Amino acid sequence: MTRKLRLWIATCNRGKTREFMNLVGDRWRVRGLHGVLGLPVIRETGKTFAANAKIKALAISRSIPTALVLADDSGLVVPGLRGRPGVRSARFAGPRATDQDNRRKLLRLLKDRTGSERKAYFQASLVLARNGRILGIAEGRVWGQITPEEQGKGGFGYDPIFRPQGFQKTFGELPSRTKDRISHRAKAMRGLVRVLSNIKAIPAPKKRI
Ligand code: IMP
Repeated sequence: MTRKLRLWIATCNRGKTREFMNLVGDRWRVRGLHGVLGLPVIRETGKTFAANAKIKALAISRSIPTALVLADDSGLVVPGLRGRPGVRSARFAGPRATDQDNRRKLLRLLKDRTGSERKAYFQASLVLARNGRILGIAEGRVWGQITPEEQGKGGFGYDPIFRPQGFQKTFGELPSRTKDRISHRAKAMRGLVRVLSNIKAIPAPKKRI
């Protein structure tokens, strides 16, 4: 039997980590950063998802030697709101905002908007790194529509108010296997399949006695 390799996801967002568990396949043992002590404080100062994913991947991969680290920076873009919430998706309604606060703020801003003004897309930018060196970069997008109110309780973040193109239900209502097939994250992961399949385990550094 081949030994599973550890893949660290550079996030404390359990929703994201859960999705990666389903997306990466059997060869990997996926682990998020919740509960890991001594990590650097990371300031997501980039103006794009890709820039922020790079910042997270480099910082975490430097602080956990030899670990293979996958960073995901993602969010919702509403062109009718000049790209908001964008890179500020997690903090849209303020620095301590909950997912529900963010959804409510967005629904309020779009209250009187109809049709194409409610068009939106999710974007995920992924960066794979080890020991401060980037091994792969990929991006994915899924277009859809912001619903007038919340529908469904599944997923996380903006899922209950995002209806992907070609579907009658939101990501909050659709089965997770459907989201895992069509989502921004799923599309981006497909761009990393070849890099991941070429990764070999490298031994952890020897401890000094
Ligand atoms: P990040 O952790 O800085 O990348 O922030 C990502 C934020 O974007 C999350 O907190 C969610 O609000 C939102 N987001 C990203 N991907 C998804 C998704 O798949 N569903 C719903 N919301 C998402």
